[in-house]
Amino acid sequence: MRRLCCFLALLLMTVPVAGAQHTQHADSRAIEFPDVPGYHTLVCDLHTHTVFSDGSVWPDIRVQEALRDGLDCLAITDHIEYQPHIEDIPHPDRNRSYDLAAQVVERMMEDEQEEAENEEAEGEEEADENEEENVPLLVLRGAEITRAMPPGHINAVLLGDVNPVRVDSSADAIREANRQGAFVFWNHPSWPAQKPDAIAELTDMHRELIAEGLLHGIEVVNEQWYSDEALQIALDHNLAILGTSDIHGLIDWTFDVPGGGHRSATLVFATDRSLEAIGEAFRMRRTVAWFKDILIGRPEHVQPLIEASLSIKTAEYGEDNSVLHVAIENTSDAAFTLRNRSEYTFADATDLIVLEAHAVTWLEVKTGERGFRHDLVFEVLNAVTAPSTHPEWALTIEVEEMRESEAEEEGE
Ligand SMILES: [Zn+2]
Ligand SMILES: [Zn+2]
Repeated sequence: MRRLCCFLALLLMTVPVAGAQHTQHADSRAIEFPDVPGYHTLVCDLHTHTVFSDGSVWPDIRVQEALRDGLDCLAITDHIEYQPHIEDIPHPDRNRSYDLAAQVVERMMEDEQEEAENEEAEGEEEADENEEENVPLLVLRGAEITRAMPPGHINAVLLGDVNPVRVDSSADAIREANRQGAFVFWNHPSWPAQKPDAIAELTDMHRELIAEGLLHGIEVVNEQWYSDEALQIALDHNLAILGTSDIHGLIDWTFDVPGGGHRSATLVFATDRSLEAIGEAFRMRRTVAWFKDILIGRPEHVQPLIEASLSIKTAEYGEDNSVLHVAIENTSDAAFTLRNRSEYTFADATDLIVLEAHAVTWLEVKTGERGFRHDLVFEVLNAVTAPSTHPEWALTIEVEEMRESEAEEEGE
């Protein structure tokens, strides 16, 4: 138990809180993106399994993996109907896997509280009032409504009670999830087992569910799989764009974390770090899927994330020439691949530039003539805002050493 306390203390230091900047996680495997103006960037995995359906691990392992990955929220979404371990693990209460996962976090909170009280008694720091902001991980009660097509597999998260969702008719199950205020989305719509051509396509049932406001999101990314058609469906029907791990085994093995990989996940832009704010973000569709090195989302969500991730550190001219040396910092987990769309060319790069994650990259811009202000524009190839569509990153570089000549020109 002591070991857990120390582990928790370390984690709490790295949990983002309102008003504070994200700090570099001590553990480099943690998924890390900067906040965007007005919102916290929360890292969420909304689709995971345990031994309480067809997963291979006890729910506490899902929590430990999520903490290592720096997740803000984790949904436990065991299949309601598909129960291959039911003889070994009978569980008439379908909330059981969520309860066990939530208990792990509660116990961590209790230990932390105890430690904080001891410290307070010793005259050290005051215990933090805002509990939810300090929860090491928000666990979402969820379930996978597991049916043949249509509707296929449907996840419901932010449920109040999984048991009433266990009914014969899939439409009734989806209705019950909505009655509980859950966020409901279509899983792996391009899964070849249910759609042999792997082309995601709405059926009449899906159209009706969307028209009635009962289906709110769609997995554009599931585990290692991506679907352009699912992205187009999300855009055409105002569904949240989601990426999930759908993990059954171990995150480390499925996503090769030791080799530098990461789970597929969803970035959620929420006003604070609470279940309520996450629910609101889902309703407003403020999500971006994080898949391999790629960010997938609507322009209004991807663009601020790119701008929050990349910034100019310095810009200075070489001695007696007009080559501008620009340092660009990337504070995100994504290695950005940019294609030059400006009038300038570069002395040390082709039109393709890679800005590695959490690093500063230098670029030599041939400006022709020394000047104060230069506009660059890049196509961001590792961000996708619609099928085959990449956003642009436009930036204006101001060269401090040239500020005076700029003032002189303006004075003339
Ligand atoms: Zn499924
Ligand atoms: Zn699943």
